[in-house]
This record gives sequence, C-alpha cells and structure tokens, in this order.
Amino acid sequence: MLFDTHLHLDLFEDPQSLIKNIEKRQIYTIAVTNLPKVFFHTKKLCEGYKYVRPALGYHPELVFKFSDQLELFLKYLDETKYIGEIGLDNQKKSVDDFTKQKQIFEKIIFACAEKRDKILTIHSRKAEKEVLSILGNSFPGTIILHWYSGSLRDLETALSYGFYFSINSAMLKSKNGLNIIKNIPDDRLLLESDSPFIGVDKSSKIPYNAESLIQELSALKKCHSEILQRKLHDNFRNILSIKH
Ligand SMILES: [Zn+2]
Repeated sequence: MLFDTHLHLDLFEDPQSLIKNIEKRQIYTIAVTNLPKVFFHTKKLCEGYKYVRPALGYHPELVFKFSDQLELFLKYLDETKYIGEIGLDNQKKSVDDFTKQKQIFEKIIFACAEKRDKILTIHSRKAEKEVLSILGNSFPGTIILHWYSGSLRDLETALSYGFYFSINSAMLKSKNGLNIIKNIPDDRLLLESDSPFIGVDKSSKIPYNAESLIQELSALKKCHSEILQRKLHDNFRNILSIKH
C-alpha cells in the first residue's frame, strides 16, 4: 500500500485526472488546502473517491494577508478529520506577520485539541521551537511535521512528544534533510509528495513517484525496501486508527 500525507491537489491544472491516477495506483492521499475558503472546492473534488481525503488548512504564509478566515476554519472543523496545511513560518517575515500567525495557530490547535481525533499536517520552517511550544507534549490527536528542517535538538523534543515526520524527495537531496531523516526512528516516518511544489509540476497527472522515494529512503536507512515499505504502511495505518 502506498500513501501520501501531504498533496496540494487543488493547485494542479487537472485535479480530476490526478485523482483518477491516485485511485488507480491506490495511493491513500491527504489532500491539504491552504485557506478555509478553498476547502469546499477540494472536498467536492474528493467526493465519491476512496483514496483521497480532503484536509482543512490555513497556510501560515497566507495568514497575515487573509487574516479574517479563522471563523470559517472553525465552522468547517467538523467536516473532516484531516487538518492542514497549518503551522508557522518565520522565514523573512515581519514581526506583525509572525505574531498574527502565532495567534491563529494557537486558536486552531486549541480547537483541534477539543475534538481529540484530528490528524494534523504541520509546516514549521524557521519556527520549530514556537510550533513545539504551542503543540506541547500532550496534544490529543496525531501530529505530522511536514518537511521538517529544524535542529536535531528540536527534532528530539518532537520525537519525545510522539510526533510523526513526513519525508519528501527534496529532503533526500539536502545534507540537512539527510541528517534529519537518519535521526528519525523508522516507526515515526511517513511519506509525502508536497507536490506540485516538489518532483512534478502543476500539469502532472501523477502525484509523485512513491516507489523511488521508498528506494532512496531504504538505501539511507540501510533497510530492505520491502521491509521499509511495510513499516511505513504500518505507521500510516497506526495514525489512521489511533483512538484517543
Ligand atoms: Zn505544502
């Protein structure tokens, strides 16, 4: 079984063709969105399909510009168990921007914690410490840190909090990414495409090459690819069936 915990379905030119291929290849996919106001569009796209699930998101890099969407986010919260893309980004952001992001992210996390069964895919670029401190070590739900690029010390903290990490092909091409992946135990690893930002472009009809990602990852982890694939599969099944 293949899966993808972070795909921007709505950013592709032809999401229908993409979904058809995802179904054909049986890739369980979490289709993240970037703003509450576009969530329903993706929800509609996923209707009637088995392998694609819509996620409600509020991307940190859009929060400052579209700061009036929290109400809508909370309104849609019961529409799906999947939440993302949410988080914090402090790469070249103004103090006002980052402050607003933190306010909104705290409210989102508080609301998700009350529901107790949400699966969150989280962006944390240059803001890992703040993300960890807002999430804390007892969040009732599943946390997936998407494309983690922070320090090994913060990685340790995140692991001690029970978080998962979704790995993409770009991480395998950077020295920092490789070092991070080496330090994540196999039972916390998940896969993501983050396409169309990585690997394929907006015109693509396939989400990503999951098989080659598994091959590269198994070489790095010095683990047979079939064994690693089974472990990843188990991790994904675990996050879907966890009861809190
Ligand atoms: Zn993304």
